Amino acid sequence: MTVKINIDRHLCKSCGICVDLCPTSVFIFDESQMYPVPENIEKCIKCMFCELRCPDFAVEVITEGSDESEIDTGE
Ligand code: SF4
Ligand code: SF4
Repeated sequence: MTVKINIDRHLCKSCGICVDLCPTSVFIFDESQMYPVPENIEKCIKCMFCELRCPDFAVEVITEGSDESEIDTGE
């Protein structure tokens, strides 16, 4: 895997914008927990829309070469 998505659940306001705008439908919205989940991460094209457009700065797109020690999947 060359990309990972970190959703900061302390910052996320469950607006669903990232789910709606992702061009390749990477996210599903977990209705029980009210958070987006990058379920289809293999479809990510690293366009960064989700990170750039999240109004609460809750999304971090971590690409190959980043410091993955900081990844927090929130699980
Ligand atoms: S756009 Fe940001 S605040 Fe809205 S659901 Fe996605 S991660 Fe949460
Ligand atoms: S970087 Fe682009 S393709 Fe990847 S999850 Fe975010 S919006 Fe979707």
